[in-house]
Amino acid sequence: MRMPPFTLHTPSNLAQALGLAAELDDFDWVSGGTDLLPNYKWHLNVKPHVISLAGIQELNSLSSTVIGAMVRIHDLAESSEAHPLLRQTASTIASVMLRRSATVGGNICLDTRCFWFNQGEEWRRSIDWCHKCDCDTNADCRVIPNQNTLCVATYQADLAAAFIALDATIHLASSAGARSMPFADFFQLDGMTRNVLQKGEMVTHVTLPKGIEEWQGEYQKLRLRKSWDFPEAGVAAAWKIEKGKITGLRLATTGCESIPGDHSELGADAIEAWNGKESIAVLAENIRKAVKPVNNTYFPPAYRRKMIRVLAKRAMSPLQDL
Ligand SMILES: Cc1cc2nc3c(=O)[nH]c(=O)nc-3n(C[C@H](O)[C@H](O)[C@H](O)COP(=O)(O)OP(=O)(O)OC[C@H]3O[C@@H](n4cnc5c(N)ncnc54)[C@H](O)[C@@H]3O)c2cc1C
Ligand code: SF4
Repeated sequence: MRMPPFTLHTPSNLAQALGLAAELDDFDWVSGGTDLLPNYKWHLNVKPHVISLAGIQELNSLSSTVIGAMVRIHDLAESSEAHPLLRQTASTIASVMLRRSATVGGNICLDTRCFWFNQGEEWRRSIDWCHKCDCDTNADCRVIPNQNTLCVATYQADLAAAFIALDATIHLASSAGARSMPFADFFQLDGMTRNVLQKGEMVTHVTLPKGIEEWQGEYQKLRLRKSWDFPEAGVAAAWKIEKGKITGLRLATTGCESIPGDHSELGADAIEAWNGKESIAVLAENIRKAVKPVNNTYFPPAYRRKMIRVLAKRAMSPLQDL
């Protein structure tokens, strides 16, 4: 597991970083390095240049509605200003030590995972590689065989589900300018492309809508070891209650497909005729039907899908008496 050589660039402000990105042909951003560097050690799609975001103060904002890309997951989990759903979700990510280095931007842009891909170089050579890191062999995908156009590696980051449930907006920047979009629109259904980031573009921050402090929420996660494992399935729910009635319900899943799932339309339909436990059971079953995991993480897909229903019920349990 020797780190392959690359040139590290350390810009000290956003303009410098975006200028560098526009000049370099092939590079990766690195923020906390807790995902990128282990992948590099396993020789997974290594780039000749790496641009560190560590010295860029503009990416460090943290308030009740603005979360900078370089905010450490630990600081988000401990913040008295952050939304309680973000705090709860952040506190389930990896381990205490990893959370001290890991960042919000790195979490959102986490590479997709697959047990045919997240392996050492010799292991992957022994199976003649796979499409996502094919070493110029045109290897097929091992999960959906006889094709090398689509990768269905799984998105296993937690924060995205909470951000979608809180109706967040994601903000991007490149030397060509800045742009923003609803959080769920950031992701692209392919385990290699992953998201809409263009060459030289980065995530700068995430914002939450005005009045979000009136929303409550809950995150539920399935993982092998509670101490640090990636989500095998995750459900975030956020709701608003006014005069004893649910007036908003948004739901999102992660850990089941190449992108996180936005199930907020199902939530909005369900609150029109809300009937406590009964509505929760129907909604949880509809979310189970909507997710389609494949066989490329630790637990089998059928179990992860079943657990999505259980997690959805648990996440919505505070609404059962309404
Ligand atoms: C043992 C272990 C357990 C883990 N458990 C979990 C878990 O439970 N839940 C979970 O969600 N994650 C988990 N992780 C994954 C990872 O640690 C976290 O997701 C972390 O938040 C990644 O952030 P980082 O700053 O270290 O990212 P980095 O490793 O620096 O970057 C990750 C990816 O994002 C890109 N990137 C980083 N910042 C930006 C930016 N601002 N704009 C555009 N692209 C960017 C990088 O190029 C890279 O592709 C785990 C990792 C390990 C090693
Ligand atoms: S889903 Fe297929 S192409 Fe993607 S990492 Fe897994 S085996 Fe490789």
